[in-house]
Amino acid sequence: MCICVNCAYVDQCITYHEVERQHQQPHLTDTPTFAPVSPTINVNIRSRGEVIEMEWDVVGCESFALDKGRWSRLRPGEPVPT
Ligand code: SF4
Repeated sequence: MCICVNCAYVDQCITYHEVERQHQQPHLTDTPTFAPVSPTINVNIRSRGEVIEMEWDVVGCESFALDKGRWSRLRPGEPVPT
C-alpha cells in the first residue's frame, strides 16, 4: 500500500498527484504545491491477457509525516486506494 494515504501532505503533494494520475483516480487537489524529498516509488507491472496494468506505490519518502487516516478523512466513506 502507498504510504501517502497516512501522510499529512497527501492533499498537497506533487508526487501523490502523479500517483493518482497513474491510477486514473480523482485528484485530492488540482494544484499540488508540496515537493517531497526523495520519494521512492515501487512500480508493479502485471499483464492480464493483452492488458498491461501498472501499479505505483510510494514506499518511502523523507518528507513523510504520519497523519494516520488522512486520506480517509478527506474522502469519507470511499475505499482507501491500495
Ligand atoms: S509520503 Fe511523501 S510522496 Fe507521499 S504524500 Fe507524503 S510527502 Fe508526498
